[in-house]
This record gives sequence, structure tokens and C-alpha cells, in this order.
Amino acid sequence: MSVIRCDVLVIGAGAAGLMCAMTAGRRGRMVQVIDHANKVGKKILMSGGGRCNFTNTGTTAANFLSANPHFCKSALARYTPWHFIEMVERHGIAYHEKELGQLFCDISSKQIVKMLVDECQAAGVQIRTDCGVQKVERGADGFHVHTAQGHFHAASLVVATGGLSIPSMGATGFGYELARQFGHEVLPTRAGLVPLTLSGKHQERFNELSGVALPIEARCNGVEFRNSMLITHRGISGPAILQISSYWQPGDELRLDLLPGQDALGWLRRMKAERGAAELRTVLSEVLPRRLALRLCEHWLPDRLVRQIDEPQLREAADLLQNFPLVASGTEGYRTAEVTLGGVDTRKVSSSTFESQLVPGLHFIGEVLDVTGWLGGYNFQWAWACGHAAGSVA
Ligand SMILES: Cc1cc2nc3c(=O)[nH]c(=O)nc-3n(C[C@H](O)[C@H](O)[C@H](O)COP(=O)(O)OP(=O)(O)OC[C@H]3O[C@@H](n4cnc5c(N)ncnc54)[C@H](O)[C@@H]3O)c2cc1C
Repeated sequence: MSVIRCDVLVIGAGAAGLMCAMTAGRRGRMVQVIDHANKVGKKILMSGGGRCNFTNTGTTAANFLSANPHFCKSALARYTPWHFIEMVERHGIAYHEKELGQLFCDISSKQIVKMLVDECQAAGVQIRTDCGVQKVERGADGFHVHTAQGHFHAASLVVATGGLSIPSMGATGFGYELARQFGHEVLPTRAGLVPLTLSGKHQERFNELSGVALPIEARCNGVEFRNSMLITHRGISGPAILQISSYWQPGDELRLDLLPGQDALGWLRRMKAERGAAELRTVLSEVLPRRLALRLCEHWLPDRLVRQIDEPQLREAADLLQNFPLVASGTEGYRTAEVTLGGVDTRKVSSSTFESQLVPGLHFIGEVLDVTGWLGGYNFQWAWACGHAAGSVA
């Protein structure tokens, strides 16, 4: 079988891998990128509903979860959203800000993949798809990687194989296995940015509300997100729920403020003074989706005229509306999760070069590491930043 020699071999032609490859290629390094999937950047293509939320202009370390919260700071500071935006503009890709600094392509996420591939080509990078890895060994002269398309020999090996979410798009645990092979610890992984499922009483009561959406504030383990929630036939989803899902584990208390930014008790007292002859369900339907208001009055709130509700009951109702205890039974798992929490322990990886502290020449970048961003373009910004950092030295 043929031997393909290069300076840098990148495994994984996703966001981080392509950024790393183009950066190393521009330095004159001979770079090969291999991916077992039949095309590159599949997650980029499906991201942001096909329009790729490619960065967030407000990115800071506070937008990431990791057992080592300072780890991401250096790379994020050295490759900012504005660096990526400069490349997007240079390629004439039109984009817009949706909310909270989230930038999306106006037309298609295909433009981002094309830009990355064009930049790689301009830097002399070779990309091979349908190239599964059979074995990785390290000798005195570098790394030997046996694949379906030959035997690669490289001085530097960059692992950019992503996390476990969406296995149908090519996600595998390969990066974790490789990390373990070389003595790295892998912190427990679980699905993040994922819809939550309900069971038992809560599922029965929410079941017929599928399709109802409303603004909420979701709170769990001292963290809160204000955004919309969508009730689905399996449970709950929408940005506020996806965000809080990364902080939630089975058994944790999850609270929802159904009237975020409002004073429910003050409002209820006003309704009692001004609209006492109305049913609670009627006035509640004016501030919440009607189907949800009816369901709340059926199971949780007093289903009667507002004037018949005494002060302690008003307080209880206000508390329920602003501190609704939702019992989630689990998540939809990797099948629908946008990201994987946990991964290669960053404490044995350099935060400036992403090189292993155990194996010289070995680098880990992107989602395979134990660094996970919030919803809103932060995960791609992380992929670009660490891809750039590793590509600058590998
Ligand atoms: C539906 C969805 C929507 C998303 N939308 C957004 C968004 O809008 N904004 C945002 O910031 N983030 C978004 N994300 C998250 C984002 O896609 C990831 O965080 C990001 O792609 C991670 O980059 P990566 O390069 O580390 O991994 P990936 O982009 O996942 O790339 C890993 C690559 O490695 C390859 N690979 C895996 N195993 C092997 C193997 N054994 N051999 C060879 N190759 C292998 C894979 O085929 C893949 O090409 C979304 C994720 C999903 C699932």
C-alpha cells in the first residue's frame, strides 16, 4: 500500500479540522486532511437550519462549559469572531445578525463550507473523504496512520473528529479512543443543547399542547436562560430549553418562569381588583398561549373567578407561574443533540498550541475536547479559534 508523507495530518474535515489545515497550509506545511464521511463539513451544512450560525460577536469564555473553565480563553482571544468575519466578507458571503450577536449566512451554510475548502486549496491542503482510519501508531519519526486509502506518515497529528452528536452525520467516538490510546483521560460525555423529554404526569398533562411556544426563563443549577420554549410531542424544546439542557442532569431541579420579566403577583392582584368577575383561565389566556393557560387551570391553578381567589392562593399561583417545577425524565440523546458535553480532558493539553502534554506532535481541537459552547454560534467560534491556534504551530 502507498505511503503518503506530510508534515501535518488532520483527522476530521469538520469546522476545526478545516480551519487548522488552512492555517498550517498557509505556513507552508504539507497538510493532508482525512475524513471517513463521504463529504466534508456535514455539520456545518446542517447547522443553523441550513444557514450556519457561524459565530457570535459577543463570545467570551463565560459562554462555554468545561471542567477547566480558563482553558478556552487564550485561543478565543487570539482568533476572535472579527477574524472569521473578515474571511466571510472577503469571500463575499452575505450575512445578518439574528439576535444577541448571532451571525447567520443570508443564503446557505454551503457557502461557509465552500469558503473553507477554497481556503484549504489555496493553501495547498489535500482533502480526502471516504477515508476511515484503521490504526494509529507513533514511532520515533512521527505518526503512522493506516487508512482505507493508504498509509500516512506525519510529524504532527491533529485530532479534529468532533463529538458524538448526530451519529447519522458521521459522528464517532474515535477521538476519545485515540486520546485514551495515548494516555489521555476522557471526561464523561453526554448530550448537550438537546430537547428534554417528559414522562408520567407531566407528559400526560403537556401531551396535547404540542406546538405551543412561549417566551420563558429556564433555571437550573444556578444558571438561567431567557428565550422561547416549544412544547413537542415528546417533551420540551426551543432555545431556552436547549441552553438549559447543557446544565441539567437527570434528577436535577428545573424551574420555568412562564412570565419572564413580569411581576405575576402584582398582575394577579390587579386582575382581582379590575377584572374580578372574569375566570382566571380567561385573564391568563391574555398573557399566555390559550391552550397552556387552560391546561394550567385544569391541573395546577384555581379554576374559578379571579375575585374568589384569596391572597394566599394568589401568592401560590404567582409562584407557580414564575417558578414552575418541571420534571424532565431525560433528553432526546445524541440523535438530536447539537453538541457533546465532556470529552478529552484539557488539563493535559496546551491551551495555546492544543498539543498534548503527554505525546509531542499530537493535537486535539474542536468538540472532541471538554469545551462546549452555548447555543448561538459559540461552538463554531470555538472550532475556528482552536483550529487556528493548532494550525499556527502544527
Ligand atoms: C444540527 C446541528 C446544528 C448546529 N448548529 C450550529 C450553529 O448554527 N452554530 C454553532 O456554532 N454550532 C452549531 N452546531 C455545533 C457545531 O456543528 C459543532 O460544535 C462543530 O461542528 C464542531 O466542530 P468539530 O470540527 O470539532 O467537529 P465536526 O464539525 O463534527 O467535524 C468532525 C469531523 O470528523 C469526522 N470524523 C468523525 N469520526 C471520524 C473517524 N473515525 N475518522 C475520520 N473522520 C472522522 C466527521 O465525519 C466530521 O467531518 C450544530 C450542531 C448540530 C448537530
